Amino acid sequence: MSPIPKTPKTADPAQMDAFLDALMAEMTLPEKLGQLNLITTNIPVEEDKLAEIRAGRVGGMLGGLFPCTFGVNGPEGLRAVQAAAVQESRLGIPLLLAYDVIHGHQTVFPIPLALSCTWDTGHVETTARAAAREASASGLNWVFSPMVDIGRDPRWGRIAEGSGEDPYLGSQIAAAMIRGLQGTALSNSDSVMACVKHFVAYGAPEGGRDYNNADMSPARLWDVYLPPFQAAVAAGAGSAMMAFSAVNGVPSHADQDLLDKILPGVLKVSDFDGIPEMIAHGLGDEAGQIDAADPLQTLSERALRAGVQMDMMGKGFITRLEAALTAGRVTQAQIDAACRAVLEAKYKLGLFADPFARFDADRAARVILAPEHRRAARAVAAESCVLLKNDGDLLPLAKTGTIAVIGPLADDTRNVLGPWAFQGDPATAVSVLAGVQAAVGAGATVLHARGANITEDRRMLDLLNFAGPKVDLDPRSPQEMIAEAVEIARRSDVVIAVVGEAAEMSGESASRMDIGIPDGQRDLLKALHRTGTPVVLVTLNGRPLTLPWEAETLPAILVSWFGGCEAGNAVADLLFGDRVPSGRLTTSWPRHVGQVPLPYDRATTGRPGSADNDPGKYSTRCYLDGPSEPLFPFGFGLSTTRFSYGAVTVDREVVHGAGPLTVTVSVTNTGTRVGVETVQLYLTDPVASVVRPGKQLRGFRKIRLEPGQTEAVSFTLTTADLEFHDPALNRVWEPGRFLIGVGPHSSDLKTVSVTWLKD
Ligand code: BGC
Repeated sequence: MSPIPKTPKTADPAQMDAFLDALMAEMTLPEKLGQLNLITTNIPVEEDKLAEIRAGRVGGMLGGLFPCTFGVNGPEGLRAVQAAAVQESRLGIPLLLAYDVIHGHQTVFPIPLALSCTWDTGHVETTARAAAREASASGLNWVFSPMVDIGRDPRWGRIAEGSGEDPYLGSQIAAAMIRGLQGTALSNSDSVMACVKHFVAYGAPEGGRDYNNADMSPARLWDVYLPPFQAAVAAGAGSAMMAFSAVNGVPSHADQDLLDKILPGVLKVSDFDGIPEMIAHGLGDEAGQIDAADPLQTLSERALRAGVQMDMMGKGFITRLEAALTAGRVTQAQIDAACRAVLEAKYKLGLFADPFARFDADRAARVILAPEHRRAARAVAAESCVLLKNDGDLLPLAKTGTIAVIGPLADDTRNVLGPWAFQGDPATAVSVLAGVQAAVGAGATVLHARGANITEDRRMLDLLNFAGPKVDLDPRSPQEMIAEAVEIARRSDVVIAVVGEAAEMSGESASRMDIGIPDGQRDLLKALHRTGTPVVLVTLNGRPLTLPWEAETLPAILVSWFGGCEAGNAVADLLFGDRVPSGRLTTSWPRHVGQVPLPYDRATTGRPGSADNDPGKYSTRCYLDGPSEPLFPFGFGLSTTRFSYGAVTVDREVVHGAGPLTVTVSVTNTGTRVGVETVQLYLTDPVASVVRPGKQLRGFRKIRLEPGQTEAVSFTLTTADLEFHDPALNRVWEPGRFLIGVGPHSSDLKTVSVTWLKD
């Protein structure tokens, strides 16, 4: 029935253009608008939606997978939907089949924020590749990942989904994600199209409140929030998703200027209902007018004019654009351009050549939860954990004696998977308790008590359980649970306390104003501490937590984030020394929520001479009730060995023109265990025509050193590292003196000064 000829699998531009010209010449206006329509369905797909697909009124479909149906009938159901489009619609145009594959598909890897703490783009690429292999074998061809929003406010729940606060590191991770997801060619049947999101500055909502707007200088937008998008586009990202929020008064769904500048040639899709959500922003058309009887009419037109090409669930493109064309408020060329962008994506994915190539049950059986994926999950989860404290070298622990594993997240296989893990099956996950038991075997006695509920806060529980029971409640009183835990702790040589957040406390719509460990769990920690048995704190969390009491009092703290399906094994590997802790923070950890945002690159202010406020020792006393610095700075993380840094040297003190400049430092493992260090380089431009960041990450190298071993680590800097956007948004660098700091984290640097001249 389909009149579409089979096309070659390669994305040869000339062949593609000829093919798409011919196809578009055949298409009616309703069919063209159908391509712009992205719907969501269940599996099996509802009859009315199937009818729309057969009528050529749907270009793509999201999901069909809530809850966790992929493992059961998802691929067959999806295949049936694709078959309806290809075999039963007039032109047989295949569908984009999308899903939120955020940190693994059925093999769940650590949440993105955790992954970034590996400072290892190889790991990022490996995990994204594994996710693409699994998702594509189930028939998916498009994933709504990576989220590259810079996140500097830990109240914002979606900080869990990104790579932290730094644009330099974030850009490298964004590119690695694209490489992993899209593979060597989009048309490969084990590749999926990436969707970089949320364009732009969605990670800077006021007060950390999800979906709120951001106001910032254009220079900050260009220097901090746009670079990861530019890096993803440079790496070939096939698509981009608009943010719900407005930046400097304009939602991206209506920001033609930015879409043109940053996302040319990239398929631009709205967020879920993102076009109708502009109504809540109080936005009208470009002249500030709105069709009061039908605001969606006005805003759908505006979104198309701005360059949005696919409408996720907003329904305005499919229902309103025909009238808009008749009235002359959008043009045929604008509709054609959007339709062509969708068709091009399908062509490049090889869908016209073989719409069913990705439905491969044999391959699915081989790759889903494949041993090599699980091995990667364990290694990467271990490397994403950050050791914040280890007094008296309490870690690693001996695999002997009596070990108490206590806490509401200790025997947990659901929360370890984290938010956005719809296809992760808790039955495939390893809890910390199980990981510890497996690690010690018969050598030690392992005791367990729950000790507390994750939260007793009724309002929060209702919200967390809104879409079905997620966070369970032990009916016992807090006192009873603590008494049981204390009794076990007293009989043990060490307590491993596994506490923190439920998965739903991070992610979308999950902002918090208190970012500490919930009260009941902190009461448990205090009671455990009073027993005198040493307490190793293991946190599960999707954001930086405020841990002032814990950091002051408990001897060891290991941040394990939401580590995915191998989380428990990975944590046990670190606790017992089978692997070495090497994760480094990619966000600053505040002492108190009142300090946020507190990024490491904040500008220096105040008077010289006060020691109160690090960077650069410039300060006026900021808070009466506490210091200004974070509790744990960006880049921080301990090892179970020690490293010492030699002097930082440069190959020249005066640099002319483009450079490069080579900076070298010697790092020695002075401890008795093997260790992995992430050597970090920061640049400061102390005097400029505008106020510049206090310091900026400009290089990092992860090295493994045996005890006693020394390695010289070199970095190369060029003028690209000096550049910034001036107020007119020109990319410039200004000659003069620069400070280069190298060290283990952003607040512990050895510095050298160079002069960099234009010629
Ligand atoms: C989120 C996106 C996500 C989309 C589809 C939206 O609410 O903001 O990140 O990709 O839903 O699930």
